[in-house]
Amino acid sequence: MNKLAKIYDQVVRRDPNEPEFHQAVKEVLESLEPVAEKYPQFLEAGIFERIVEPERTIIFRIPWVTDKGEVAVNRGYRVQFNSAIGPYKGGVRFHPSVNLSIIKFLGFEQTFKNSLTGLPMGGGKGGTDFDPKGKSDGEIMRFCQSFMIELSKHIGPDTDVPAGDIGVGAREIGYMYGMYKRLRNEFTGVLTGKGLTYGGSLGRTQATGYGVCYFMEEAVRTIKGRSFNGSTVIISGSGNVATYAADKALQLGSKVVAMSDSSGYIYDENGIDLATVKKIKEVERKRISEYVKYHPEARYTDGCSGIWTVKCDIALPCATQNELNGDSARALVKNGCWAVGEGANMPCTPEAVEIFLENKLVYAPGKASNAGGVACSGLEMSQNSLRLSWTFEEVDQKLKDIMVNIYKTASAAAKEFGHENNLVVGANIAGFMKVANAMLAHGVSY
Ligand code: NDP
Repeated sequence: MNKLAKIYDQVVRRDPNEPEFHQAVKEVLESLEPVAEKYPQFLEAGIFERIVEPERTIIFRIPWVTDKGEVAVNRGYRVQFNSAIGPYKGGVRFHPSVNLSIIKFLGFEQTFKNSLTGLPMGGGKGGTDFDPKGKSDGEIMRFCQSFMIELSKHIGPDTDVPAGDIGVGAREIGYMYGMYKRLRNEFTGVLTGKGLTYGGSLGRTQATGYGVCYFMEEAVRTIKGRSFNGSTVIISGSGNVATYAADKALQLGSKVVAMSDSSGYIYDENGIDLATVKKIKEVERKRISEYVKYHPEARYTDGCSGIWTVKCDIALPCATQNELNGDSARALVKNGCWAVGEGANMPCTPEAVEIFLENKLVYAPGKASNAGGVACSGLEMSQNSLRLSWTFEEVDQKLKDIMVNIYKTASAAAKEFGHENNLVVGANIAGFMKVANAMLAHGVSY
């Protein structure tokens, strides 16, 4: 057994109940085998053992009071994974499925993603098993305040800078920021994804979704000589990432025919009316099934995985981890899909990825293709430090340049190590190198 396989075994033995974390670590370590061979100094310095172990894990109680006056208790997490190249940076997720395995996998992936952006950000992630669905605005506010009372002890603009993720948008960031500011009596860029009136960046809301399309446009043009223009696209989810991926896909001249939420999916062969989706999900906070009330010609189907049976050229999974399995991948290939770009983190199972690579689809792993969100968060941090605001056009141009550069970097690393066009290998290696070299330079300090 080679050394990296032994390290993976140790990870599984140490925390046997963390399947999502194991899945993320396995993929990265497998990609890094040629790196371990070429650079023995990484093995000698224990870089691989260290990089799979978070620097710090914080788990805490979040008590809050419901509208009925009852006391509820949730569990909070912040995993500060790696600070070799900058302060910990990564979102906070509010979803009932959140557990340590999920937060660790996200923090681990974030380390490589942040490195790929070229900006000085380490990797971290946080969250809670609180379910925002069905909660009143007052309940959301009280919960966010209680969450921040504890989290504030562990973060700071030069230490750890959280942002949004599933279940955490502008409203939640605002409530958390307000509490942090009160506790510290400081006005700093401690969170990103802030509102424009208090230090947010233009373009941050759109960044992840737009970034996925910028990355994919470059990838499909280079690898296949194709484009979004004239293509049929399907997008899972209808949250922040999905909505703005759809927005950019439309701007690039494609037709988006299907979108979903955690209950089911809509199919509109004439092309989905994004304004209606935004109204239902962003303003009314209702289910996507409502769409057919406004567009009776469209079809709604219960269940999320059916969306992958819709015929398309490009598929963008933008909802959640492991939402696209082997059967779904086979259905996509059978229907002629030629590109898959991950907007979500790890939405495709290892079997699905295998099928895409075997069938020579352009396949972009989330840590490369969805890095636009955190890249723009990095730009928000820069603006906060400079006490300046850039225009939307300036931010958008920087985002575009970063995404094209991530594609080029990942593609070059894949080629250098003999896996041309394999962006999984390329992104893992390119993301790893900068972090590993910084860790090497720091000695055995963490
Ligand atoms: P949102 O909360 O805005 O939207 C999430 C969407 O995914 C909703 O449509 C939701 O449906 C659906 N969804 C959530 N959980 C599940 C589930 N278990 N099964 C099926 N569908 C589900 O989150 P974001 O758009 O911000 O995040 C989506 C993905 O993108 C996540 O993987 C996140 O980690 C990743 N990401 C986000 C970034 C960002 O900047 N926001 C940056 C990089 C990655 P419903 O409304 O029914 O809950």
